Amino acid sequence: MGDGLPIPNSDDVSRETSTAAAISALADALPPGDNDSPLAQAVAEDARKRITLVGRTFPRPRHTRILTVANQKGGVGKTTTTVNVAAALAQAGARVLVVDLDPQGNASTALGIDHHADIPSIYDVLVDGRPLTDVVQPCPDVPGLFCAPATIDLAGAEIELVSLVARETRLNKAITAYLDDTGGESVDYVVIDCPPSLGLLTINAFVAAREVFIPIQCEYYALEGLSQLLNNIDLIRSHLNPGLHVSSILLTMFDGRTRLAAQVADEVRQHFPQETFRAVIPRSVRISEAPSHGQTVMTYDPNSSGALSYLEAAAEMAERAARQEETR
Ligand code: ATP
Ligand code: MG
Repeated sequence: MGDGLPIPNSDDVSRETSTAAAISALADALPPGDNDSPLAQAVAEDARKRITLVGRTFPRPRHTRILTVANQKGGVGKTTTTVNVAAALAQAGARVLVVDLDPQGNASTALGIDHHADIPSIYDVLVDGRPLTDVVQPCPDVPGLFCAPATIDLAGAEIELVSLVARETRLNKAITAYLDDTGGESVDYVVIDCPPSLGLLTINAFVAAREVFIPIQCEYYALEGLSQLLNNIDLIRSHLNPGLHVSSILLTMFDGRTRLAAQVADEVRQHFPQETFRAVIPRSVRISEAPSHGQTVMTYDPNSSGALSYLEAAAEMAERAARQEETR
């Protein structure tokens, strides 16, 4: 795509194939982990992910994928998922834009992006029609990762938008113009972090995106409210954005010691077998510490089980779509 990836010759291809075979043999040689010892199992699992995933390049999509990370339930891991999946994709060779659409500005903080009140932000884009290029900043730690930050101003946008023309489609217009400006092809993913509500900001995200990515926390009440979210997505599909669909569901904050977490995971997989990723994000102290250092866990502690799980989720996201593109 876009900025001229080198075309491999047949020597490169055969070398790549034999390296892939060697890596997979090495991963297979790992002991399976003892069912009676969850810790040993977790260590073996992390080693497998490190060997098979770290340092790899993922397939880039043919066209820019625009995803909205949404769940009107608060604190389920929307922002954490947005920034870590985005960072993992960028580290694996993609160009990724994160749009922070939450007045809390948590995604901007986690990406180390300045977002105090005077910084040009997504508020200016939505309310004043400023071009997205004016507000996008590169993420300091991860090449290829960019962010349109949110400032506290955005808290007022929900009300200010009500009286504006084309209030539901303003983000869509801004992203389309941005992709046209940047040649489109050079941005692989736009990932939009939504607030925990179904107001005009979230509606703008649903209209701008093609895919919905739902993080689900593996706890009691996890599925409550999900049907409301799916109904809203149906409504947007029938009135404003016919291409919108739920493409990805990720189980987050999984605690392997509780039976409840496993039950929730099973239930989600039963309802959404195609959409739910195999990768599951464990509850991890490193994941929750990273934002206070202005970092994603992908740079804060790349070898931690949290970072490796987000890397696995990003790989699935890229590879699943690449397989679908091939069969089309
Ligand atoms: P909101 O609805 O307020 O926007 P959210 O859905 O974006 O919340 P996050 O902010 O990503 O949720 O996560 C909520 C809290 O849980 C944060 O403090 C975050 O650091 C923590 N957290 C997220 N994922 C994990 C995890 N896998 N392990 C431990 N802590 C986590
Ligand atoms: Mg959030």
